[in-house]
Parts: sequence; structure tokens; C-alpha cells
Amino acid sequence: MKQLSGNFYYRKQANQAPSWVRGQLTITEDGHFGTFKADATADGDYFLPGFCDVHCHIGFAAVGQIATPQEALAQAEADRDCGILAIRDCGNLEYAPGILGNPALPPIIRCGRHIARPKRYMRLLPIDVENLSDLPQVMASQAQKSDGWVKIVADWIDRSNGADSDLDPLWPTEILQEGIAAAHEAGARVTAHAFSHKAIAGLLEAGIDCIEHGSGIDAEQAQECARRGIPVTPTLLQVELFNQFAAQAGQKYPVYAETMRKMWEGRREHFAMLYDAGVQLLPGTDSGGYQPHGELGRELALWERGGIPAREIIDFATWRARDYLGVGALEPGARADYLRYSSDPSSDLEMAVKPEKVALLGREFATKAPVS
Ligand SMILES: [Zn+2]
Repeated sequence: MKQLSGNFYYRKQANQAPSWVRGQLTITEDGHFGTFKADATADGDYFLPGFCDVHCHIGFAAVGQIATPQEALAQAEADRDCGILAIRDCGNLEYAPGILGNPALPPIIRCGRHIARPKRYMRLLPIDVENLSDLPQVMASQAQKSDGWVKIVADWIDRSNGADSDLDPLWPTEILQEGIAAAHEAGARVTAHAFSHKAIAGLLEAGIDCIEHGSGIDAEQAQECARRGIPVTPTLLQVELFNQFAAQAGQKYPVYAETMRKMWEGRREHFAMLYDAGVQLLPGTDSGGYQPHGELGRELALWERGGIPAREIIDFATWRARDYLGVGALEPGARADYLRYSSDPSSDLEMAVKPEKVALLGREFATKAPVS
């Protein structure tokens, strides 16, 4: 039995807000937290629960490219080193050997493959549903292959409309409703890629559990997300790229370009609106493809720039996200996964995303600076 001594962002049980307490926390032989003994005189390091990345693609290299097994391993290590100790992948292909279940890497909650329609997402990545009526069966089958999550692509440019092409929903609401019901029936929650405003009403009506990007959510819909407990993963690093997407679409797709440019221009106000509405914000880097791995700090720095205090960002990105994923934080019985600092990281975001050590199942790893 090991014992840690110092300042812990501790709580007695899951789904409860932690607070800073000094004392000693034991770690059991099988790598879980044991008992905590408060001790106001305890001196030592500071311990936070690990960060989450709920939108992270390990195994995707450059856009549309599949990483080699070595690259995939390096991606997972880079994520761990910036303090990400739990991942929901948000859509992936097969994992390279040695990634899933590796005790030296963050545990990964799989969402199965992206589900889209032909020509309505990046090539190679999704399962393309040819017949709309197959959606429920495809979602149920991904639910069986995943770890309790299914990822659908709710909108994408529809190039079949030529110069009028815009971001448009992929699915009629009724079929979406049947698909989500089928995933729920199979025991999974459903999250959706949604950039546009047009896709949101249908998702809410169809019973979506979680929204990725969410850049088109309006104020009324944000209130509804807050009220119904539907979190949003704002992926601000990805939204920062919308003006580039607009420029690339340029002359050929002016309507789409305008949609993307408008959302890019309003991105700061939009993020503040989601926060003010009380939506639960989930940390997601969308790394793999457009974004490098190991850079959660860059995503969260944009949250801070958006007006959220560092303490609250740390809450959103650690225990609140961990509760949402069901992976526990610093409490008895949870996996002994933690971040370790020699001084108090709780109001310094830059420090918080550079832990001196990280631990998985009680085993500590020294961290490396991310490779830029
Ligand atoms: Zn993604």
C-alpha cells in the first residue's frame, strides 16, 4: 500500500464538488484510491484529478491520413504528458495494438466509427449509411462495438447543390430519433458532430445526449441544453480554423464559406453565450487530423480568453468531465489517476496543464514537454 501526502483536490464520493484538503491518501495494491486521513499539518505536493479529452482521435495523423502504430502510441503518450488521463475518442477506426488497455496510457472510452452518409464527411473515416432506414441498425451495431458511446455526423457541406452548397443536416429528424433510440436501447449515449445552426433543432428534438463543436447553437437552444443536461464540447481550436475553411471553399462554395466565416467572426461571443447559459462545457481538443496531440493547454487557454476563470476551467476539465464519463476523480475507490505539482495549480491554468508528474493506477510518469 502506497501513501501520498500533501494537498488534495479531494471529495468523499463521485458526483460531488471537491475541495482542497491536506492529509494523506492511500493507494491500494491494484492502483485505486483507498482511505483519506485529513491532517492540517501535512506538507507536500498538490494533487488534481486528471484532465479529460472527450474529443480526441488517436490514430489519425494528418487530415485524412491514418497514423502508423508508432505514431498512434506517441499521440497517446503526448496526451498523457499534458495531463489528459481519460479520453473519449469521439469516433475512430481500429486501434493499433498496445493502445487500448495499456496501463501506461490514458484509458480510452470508444465511440465506434463516425456514422455519416456517402460524401458527407471526410473520406476513409466514417461508416457511410447508404439507405437512411439503416441508420438505427448501424447505430445499434456501433453501440455494441464501443464503450457506451456512438458518434454521428449531424451536418456537413452538401456539395451536390453546386454553388448553393451549404452546411446541411445529414438526417431527417424522424430517422435521427429512431437511430438515437436504437443506440439508447443498446445501452449507449450518442454525441454528434454539429457545426451549423440548422442541425441543432433536429438533434435536440431527436434526444441527443451531447454535442460536439456546437458552434451553431443559438441562445434559446443553449438554455435548453443547460436545462436538459446536454453538454457541449466547444472545440475552440477547431472553430479558430473556420475562416481557413471558408477561404479554402472560396469561389466554389460561397454560401458555405459565408456560413463558416460568420461563425468564425462570432466565435468569442458565442462561446461566452454558452457559458453564460450554464451549459456544461466539455474539454475536447479534436486532436488527430487538424490538431496535434498533447495540446489541451491551447484549447483551455482559449476558454480562459473567453472569460471563464481558471478555477472553473479546471473544474470543467477535470472532475466534472470525469463524472460525465464515469471515470471518477480523487475519491475512495476511484482509479488512482492524478496530476502532481510542487505548488498550487488551482488558479493558474498554464501551470495546471503542465503537471510535473502524472499517475495512472498509482504509477507515476514524469512528463515531457509537448513536441511542437
Ligand atoms: Zn473530431
